[in-house]
Amino acid sequence: MENKKKILIINSGGTICMSKTDGGYAPDLKVFRDSLEKLAELSAPEMPTWEMINLEPLLDSSNIAVDEWNKIGKVIEENYDKYDGFVILHGTDTMAYTASILSFALENLGKPVIITGAQIPLCELRSDGKDNLITSLMLAASDRIFEVGIYFANKLFRGNCTIKFSASDFIAFNSPNLPPLATAGIHIDYNDSLLLPKPTKPFRRQVIRKVPIGVIKVFPGIQFGLFERIMTEDLKGIVVETFGAGNIPNSSGSALLPIIEKAYKNGSIITVCTQCPQGTVMLGTYQTSAALKSVGAVAGREMTTEAAVAKLYYLFSKDLTPDEVRIQMETPLRGEESYL
Ligand code: ASP
Repeated sequence: MENKKKILIINSGGTICMSKTDGGYAPDLKVFRDSLEKLAELSAPEMPTWEMINLEPLLDSSNIAVDEWNKIGKVIEENYDKYDGFVILHGTDTMAYTASILSFALENLGKPVIITGAQIPLCELRSDGKDNLITSLMLAASDRIFEVGIYFANKLFRGNCTIKFSASDFIAFNSPNLPPLATAGIHIDYNDSLLLPKPTKPFRRQVIRKVPIGVIKVFPGIQFGLFERIMTEDLKGIVVETFGAGNIPNSSGSALLPIIEKAYKNGSIITVCTQCPQGTVMLGTYQTSAALKSVGAVAGREMTTEAAVAKLYYLFSKDLTPDEVRIQMETPLRGEESYL
């Protein structure tokens, strides 16, 4: 008899396992378990076998941060040899952050880690959770995936290239710079040329630290002086979301550059991302970005803000010097940049 693949589902919460309460939707394990039991497809012969661990407490993903990332990572580490792949159930709101951080923290990942969820709870009519879960289990049983992906609405995306794109559509995610790794139509079509290769070194997990990081979104008329007070030595990394290819206002009176320079001298790593969902940051293309380069900012290239924040968390969780972090920020580690 064919050896069935064994998948571990790690349930962290999110809409997929919620029910309606007087105060709005909230995780409800009993209702979720009842809905799962009604899904005969989950025990169909074509399906891998699976077991589920429910994290405690189940959370709306708005409440997921460093502690929960480490909890999920630890469950994967402890069960790495026992299962062929992992499915993480997660709220959609911060799914792209969790996917990004896990892509870095799970070093030399040699098995699929597929993150999914739903826009409508599994217990409700018209839930998108059923297909998302069933297909994620199939993807987690694949022999070709050695990375962290987000599966949603028929598409598997590289987790660290993905953004939440719609608060209401079933197509909630998008990967504006990188085509899907796989598309689930009648068959699951893999984009083999994009998939990361199988690692040669042994799996290891990096514990993530609570690193102080800031994100500044530039807008016309921004009063940079207001940010000066937060630019202390305590701030390890700053992601600046700029206009276009990395541009910021640099007209006379713009106070950003001295502040960025001060942050640089303090050892903070300034990473420049773009507010455009698509395209790449090229510092120095315009005069309005050349100055950022001259004060030591790092070009985030195609990195999403989510990936840049996650990469800063990851690199500062290792004992690297600011210069080493700067170099690594500009080096693609898990297919998160330099692919355009
Ligand atoms: N607020 C929910 C969450 O992120 C939204 C969702 O899951 O779709 O947990």
